[in-house]
Amino acid sequence: MPRVFVAGSFNVDHVWRVATLPSPGATLSGSYATGPGGKGFNQAVAARRAGADTRFVCALGLDAGAQLARALCDADGIDLHAATADAPTGTAGIYVDAQGRNCIVIGPGANAALDAEFVAHALAGVAAGDVVLAQLESPLDAVARALDAGRAAGATVLLNPAPANVAIDETMLVRADVLTPNETEFAALLLRHVGERIDADAVGNLDQQRLHALCRELLPHGSVVVTLGASGCFVSHADAEPRGDTATFYRVAAEPAQAIDTTGAGDAFNGALAASLAQRPERAFIEHVRFAGRFAARSTEQAGAALAMPHLVVE
Ligand code: ATP
Repeated sequence: MPRVFVAGSFNVDHVWRVATLPSPGATLSGSYATGPGGKGFNQAVAARRAGADTRFVCALGLDAGAQLARALCDADGIDLHAATADAPTGTAGIYVDAQGRNCIVIGPGANAALDAEFVAHALAGVAAGDVVLAQLESPLDAVARALDAGRAAGATVLLNPAPANVAIDETMLVRADVLTPNETEFAALLLRHVGERIDADAVGNLDQQRLHALCRELLPHGSVVVTLGASGCFVSHADAEPRGDTATFYRVAAEPAQAIDTTGAGDAFNGALAASLAQRPERAFIEHVRFAGRFAARSTEQAGAALAMPHLVVE
């Protein structure tokens, strides 16, 4: 059975809901909750709950956060390959105000110690037909090794270039078969790699032909899926390789949802896309994208990120 290999971060999220975001020197009180997070872990949970055999490769400390990661992977049936780092398990401190705006501080901790050799070893069994998925919350040499392992094996390689503030070079981009930025990440990539300054808020309103041309400049050989939140996504393929689709570029509307918390929608989308590609390779790419959109829409109907992933299996 083809598998999904996710290399990335695990964090313990500490979330405070406050009336207003704190200013310097302020002491506030608010309601507190804690739970698992990290883009890598969220995406691994999504891939698993979409029915794929999933391996999650990460680095953890020797603490309660690591125990939480192990227990959650056990509960979901995720094949965890975790390096033990001499650092605390990753954490994120998140303040959310009454309008849903947030301030986030990430303590990468063990995530910053994810070692490229460890990743290469954990991905040694990747085969053609598998899917490798990575993001940018881990050291870039470890991300590169994960993508290389996928390419060398003939797997499909997905790069979710998030978060937007992590700069990558061309050599990282060319490793991806499929790139999945959101609007902010897309705008950041265009500025860095294409020299185009486009406001992130304007991305969804760009003419499709123009969007396609920008995607082609960004990743000439591969497919780009720009996620647009409640507006769905835009897909652009290299002309030479439409991946089973009849069109080289198109919009896909979002699935209607009673959204209460869109945190982790992008992670849901990425994990589900990877799971669909691994399990139903015969399908046209648009079907994978539609499934990912359905999965992500359902994830917005529950509060939280990893724990809000639905059990919606690829059929
Ligand atoms: P986040 O950073 O919150 O995890 P993101 O910015 O990476 O998310 P988005 O583009 O917001 O990712 O969302 C990814 C996908 O999730 C969208 O392409 C869409 O299919 C789905 N989605 C997001 N928000 C909604 C919504 N309100 N209703 C339905 N689907 C949604």
